[in-house]
Amino acid sequence: MSLSERRRPENQDVVKKMADLLRAGAAMLSERCPICGLPLFRLKSGEVVCPVHGRVYIVKTESEATRITVQGVLENLERIAAEEIAKALEKRSQGLDGLVRWLDVLERTERILSIMQGSGKTKEEERKG
Ligand SMILES: [Zn+2]
Repeated sequence: MSLSERRRPENQDVVKKMADLLRAGAAMLSERCPICGLPLFRLKSGEVVCPVHGRVYIVKTESEATRITVQGVLENLERIAAEEIAKALEKRSQGLDGLVRWLDVLERTERILSIMQGSGKTKEEERKG
């Protein structure tokens, strides 16, 4: 048993999902999901999806692949920073130093992510409409 097989426990579900996609008129593509390596499907709407991960970006160039990797790392970092901030708030004895540092990480991460996502809009602005 390879590790990758153990990390995909829902093989049956995946096969079923793929069958469902085909039945719905989706076309199987030669491109593969950058996360799990499964073939991607193009829906009738033109959207490209992975049977496991849902909507994915098709990677055409090396630099685009790097960008998506960086984006994934940043999203992890964003989550970790949020968790650390929550922890720091729980244990108030820790002082503000750690909290401020994590807030700094969170702020930078979110700024970089919003630039990478190319919207040019922060979450705050989107909420205002
Ligand atoms: Zn996938």
